[in-house]
Amino acid sequence: MPDEELMKKLVSLCKRLGFVYQSGEIYGGLQSAWDYGPLGVELKRNIENSWWNAMVRTRNDVYGVDTAIITHPEVWRASGHVEHFHDPLVDCRSCKARFRADQVEGRTCPDCGGELTEPRDFGLMFKTFMGPVEDEAAVAFLRPETCQTIFADFRNIVNSMRPGLPFGVAQIGKAFRNEITARNFIFRSREFEQMEMEYFCRPGDAAQLMEYWISERLSWYAKLGIRPSNLRLRPHGQAELAHYASACTDIEYTFPFVQGGYGELEGIACRTDYDLKAHMAASGQDLTFIDQAAGEKVVPHVIETSGGVGRTFLAVLLDSYYEDVIEGRERVVLRLSPELAPVKLAILPLSRKLEPEALAVADILRPLWPAEFDVTGSIGKRYRRMDEIGTPFCITYDFDSQQDASVTIRERDSLGQIRVPVERLVEVLSGIFARGWPD
Ligand code: ATP
Repeated sequence: MPDEELMKKLVSLCKRLGFVYQSGEIYGGLQSAWDYGPLGVELKRNIENSWWNAMVRTRNDVYGVDTAIITHPEVWRASGHVEHFHDPLVDCRSCKARFRADQVEGRTCPDCGGELTEPRDFGLMFKTFMGPVEDEAAVAFLRPETCQTIFADFRNIVNSMRPGLPFGVAQIGKAFRNEITARNFIFRSREFEQMEMEYFCRPGDAAQLMEYWISERLSWYAKLGIRPSNLRLRPHGQAELAHYASACTDIEYTFPFVQGGYGELEGIACRTDYDLKAHMAASGQDLTFIDQAAGEKVVPHVIETSGGVGRTFLAVLLDSYYEDVIEGRERVVLRLSPELAPVKLAILPLSRKLEPEALAVADILRPLWPAEFDVTGSIGKRYRRMDEIGTPFCITYDFDSQQDASVTIRERDSLGQIRVPVERLVEVLSGIFARGWPD
């Protein structure tokens, strides 16, 4: 199970190697705002692409969209967010620290032991103003979740795509919440990315489809390389359910810093017909669906899968971080799957003298895979840097390569090596990326 010590090492690795930086660091840092660096942006995109492939590209029944962040204010009135999207907040009378009332036990401050105030409601949506006048008529909201605009676009999507039931609409994008206690690195920030899918179905099919999606989503996390033993399912009790949900199960991961040991990665909820009905009532528009197969008009029920990119990114890093000893030397290695690794190949000439020939090999590979060329420092040091950023395969061009026109491929985890003629390199690497390292 990941521990606090590991978390500290990971935060420092993220900064040092270019995965995640604190935003505005030169000005003292903006609390809970994070920037993804050159390696982080690749890992994040690889996670998003994996989700998009699993949820949209490889399926016939799910469409993708990308909707506006600054949204019509009526969307959030109709959805209930303006009225309900608050957290109860308590302040410490002594040290002035703020907490979410549901995250502290009793009436004393977890930091200093001082007395806490009565809970007050704290609106979580970021407000902004459209146009030149800052008055109530110009108020707009940054979306606090990506799914609501899918409901607002429902009729357009149905008219464009003419789907039958069941079908889904998926989106990856930014969401904004003015969290009271934004902390724990990228686990809880005020600006974050969600990967959400709304699956519209006949009301009678909802319970069974909820089970189906829980199992699909769990296997996606396992495929990413997150250990199933670090995941658990947590069904919500009746009292905990959000105002729109008839059932909800969270997929949780053993985040080391979360009270109780587990934190939410993703929520899978049955939202019934709550949202479509709410938008019908507020807009006066007909959002019913003509179910051709059943020959009737229905308001579909919805199963939602709602996960966070940042939390998945963090869980992937926690589960791929290893320290081991090879040939008497300690190394840190990120055992990222080749699909997720920010850099897939490193081309390393053994000596500077071999740089031109090794560059010619890099030129063959670069259009096909994200590859780095590195000639600085000892070969051992270069291998260790590649291990630390999770590069699965290093290709070494040595003095024999000049004679036999072959290079060595080294695999990060097993440290296995194979010698391959340059003219067969693309074919061999394609096989390895498709089927894994040969045993
Ligand atoms: P929590 O109880 O941790 O505040 P939530 O139940 O409010 O989470 P949802 O509204 O279900 O979260 O949002 C869906 C997903 O979006 C979460 O599972 C999480 O991965 C991600 N998420 C929500 N809030 C944040 C945040 N402040 N920072 C990063 N990711 C977030």
